[in-house]
Amino acid sequence: MTRQSLDELRSAVRSKGLRATPSRLAVLELLRSSDTPMSHGDVADRLANQAWDRATIYRNLTDLAEAGLVRRTDVGDHVWRFEAVTDEHEAGAHPHFVCTECGTVECLPEIELAVRRASTAARSKPPRAVKQRQVEVHVRGLCDACQ
Ligand SMILES: [Zn+2]
Ligand SMILES: [Zn+2]
Repeated sequence: MTRQSLDELRSAVRSKGLRATPSRLAVLELLRSSDTPMSHGDVADRLANQAWDRATIYRNLTDLAEAGLVRRTDVGDHVWRFEAVTDEHEAGAHPHFVCTECGTVECLPEIELAVRRASTAARSKPPRAVKQRQVEVHVRGLCDACQ
């Protein structure tokens, strides 16, 4: 990790009122460098060479999620997956692809959830959560490896 990115991580964490502990910074850095959402198990495995136990890593994930630096997604398999929220990676704005065979989850940043203005004749209006993108969109199919 470069000096500069460490400073950047530190100030991102501190700006949310969290202490910039080494484990919290490492968890956030890992999620920022990943282009797919990671489960607690994935994160713990990747940081297994560090001294932190899995409970500490889990607490860091939930703290970061509550602070809005990380977004939690459940693609339907009851496993929380976490991804960093940054300007380039607006986690709430893109759908996730889920492979129905192997369970791989991928971000689809090139697909955006757009809500068209409903005509006045339209009977139903989308819920506020949809307009504010407080929803999760999951696209299911076979990944390249399973086809
Ligand atoms: Zn697959
Ligand atoms: Zn994503």
